[in-house]
Amino acid sequence: MPSSAVHRHDVIVIGGGHAGVEAALAAARLGADTLLLSMSCDTVGVMSCNPAIGGVGKGQIVREIDALGGLMGRAIDATGIQFRMLNQSKGPAMHSPRAQADKQDYRRFVKFAVEDAAGVSVRQETVVGLVMSEEEGGRRNEVDGDATPSPSPLPHHRIAGVRVADGTVFHAPAVVLTTGTFMSAVMHTGEAQAKGGRAGEGTTSGLSGALRELGFELSRFKTGTPCRVHGGSVDWAACEPQPGDADPRPFSYLTHRIAQPQVDCYLTETTPAVHDLIRANLHRAPMYSGQIHGTGPRYCPSIEDKVVRFADKSSHQVFLEPEGRDTREVYCNGISTSLPRDVQEELVRGIRGLERARITRLGYAVEYDFAPPTQLKNTLETHRVRGLYFAGQINGTTGYEEAAGQGLLAGANAALAVAGKPPLAIGRDEGYLGVLIDDLVTKGADEPYRMFTSRAEHRLTLRQDNADRRLTPLAAAIGLVGPERTEQLARHEAEIARCEAFLEAHRIEGKTLAERLRRPEVTLESFAELPEWRAERFDPRAAEQAAIGAKYAGYIARQAVEVRKAQRWGAVRIPDGFDFAAVEHLRHEAREKLGSVRPADVGQAGRISGITPADLSVLVVALERAG
Ligand code: FAD
Repeated sequence: MPSSAVHRHDVIVIGGGHAGVEAALAAARLGADTLLLSMSCDTVGVMSCNPAIGGVGKGQIVREIDALGGLMGRAIDATGIQFRMLNQSKGPAMHSPRAQADKQDYRRFVKFAVEDAAGVSVRQETVVGLVMSEEEGGRRNEVDGDATPSPSPLPHHRIAGVRVADGTVFHAPAVVLTTGTFMSAVMHTGEAQAKGGRAGEGTTSGLSGALRELGFELSRFKTGTPCRVHGGSVDWAACEPQPGDADPRPFSYLTHRIAQPQVDCYLTETTPAVHDLIRANLHRAPMYSGQIHGTGPRYCPSIEDKVVRFADKSSHQVFLEPEGRDTREVYCNGISTSLPRDVQEELVRGIRGLERARITRLGYAVEYDFAPPTQLKNTLETHRVRGLYFAGQINGTTGYEEAAGQGLLAGANAALAVAGKPPLAIGRDEGYLGVLIDDLVTKGADEPYRMFTSRAEHRLTLRQDNADRRLTPLAAAIGLVGPERTEQLARHEAEIARCEAFLEAHRIEGKTLAERLRRPEVTLESFAELPEWRAERFDPRAAEQAAIGAKYAGYIARQAVEVRKAQRWGAVRIPDGFDFAAVEHLRHEAREKLGSVRPADVGQAGRISGITPADLSVLVVALERAG
């Protein structure tokens, strides 16, 4: 029976995964009365696959989420069981934090944080339809998956709320959809198929139909997960231990130190016999038998993909990662698979150290609907329906961090729009989150999108160590972070300035310490024995900032010039609803591409593949004429 009570909120978030959680918390931090609806309260904050946060390109995103007041960094600091800074032998632009999580602790931490947050209500509900307002659509619309798709989609709807399984409607002027891998999801283990977005859970089919009826384009991706084995059945002595860092560094700018003891992970590898077994059974792998049509993540391939694509390799690494402190389950990182049960059993036993391993959970692949993200503005609001935002895996991304970052921005923008305030936009030169959103809305995703440092053109300035300096002021200006973070950043900046002044003032053999730092072999450790340096007792994080600033001053200045140049073009805004089809002298292909992506400014227009400098000149003239 639908509830007759009227449920009204400012922002409704659908889905309690990594995107949904950050969306709800961000909206509430901005003062919105926020409702989080998820299929199960028990799965809020669940890590669907790998029990780890961060990694190359992804660790930077977690630092940015934290700098914007998000939860992910604090959650992993509290529940991590092994912390590593990757790429330490490379320059600071490449340093990337990663941590192994206690999976259940992580989920509990996140669930409690959402339940405890002022301004957020959590309810266990499955959303089956979207409710449109009468104002702009011309008629009141309750769009659900059972409805017959309309042949000519209505443009410019405005969202008014959502409808859940028993028919009850929850009203809000802004809705953030973060359904992850759950829309029309099918799981595959060999020939066996089951409906569901994650083992043991259901699927959500109504929403795909509802979105199609509104005229959204949907497409299909797939992802997969490896089997888990019982730790008591692993021959650990045959594997190579992978310890964490001796000085584990936190993700959150609010965490002082990681106090909990760390556990080891272990490394082993596949063998030629395992590869032979996989080749002999490829016809039973859903990806190769034609059973799966969706595209999988190129950078996180299944073991059957790896064996086919890298046919000359006789082994592939397998990291054995504990799923937590109070479980014996071990995640076999590197052998994600959807091969049938009997092949998985044999495959695992062909790996050194796993000869007697007992599988606790089989690997599987999941195929799901996503909405190509060129249908979004850079606020993550859809072009098609005002007030409706998409964030996370629904936008064709893969990974917890990418999902969480989008969630935070979508939730913040939903709350800002409801309050009638300007949106929060992060530039490509300001953060990986800016790169992520711009890539998605400009170029779309023809394979599951994951972040890499190489996607950022300004990566020397977008480092994991300075995310707070880049982004916390932006967040503070709109009230997305509280005084704790702004005061901490002010203290940090003051300490950096004190250290910079010291480096400029002190000389050794005629050269200032800042000048000496420009030499590749000189590091802060080179000054460790200087009595004057020791006497100052600089905070190590501030000293690191001052030293990076001195060492890379030339490069950073050059990058700033490039950024300013790019901004001159980019700054020319394109009004909402601008009619690209009416621009005289614009090539047909350019009209089509601009009309489908609908860039917010000329900078974004220039990044659309196939748009030439000549197209941009024509566009700028047309924009000037339009006034
Ligand atoms: P999710 O974490 O999936 O959360 C979606 C939430 O929405 C869930 O809480 C669900 O209950 C809720 N929901 C869905 N529909 C409704 C509805 N109608 N009403 C109410 N609530 C609803 N990422 C990688 O980077 N590497 C990998 O190797 C990898 N492998 C994966 C393997 C598997 C089997 C799966 C399932 C995922 C894998 N991922 C992997 C992806 C990773 O899990 C996601 O990127 C991440 O969880 C996305 O976060 P999200 O918030 O967008 O969605």
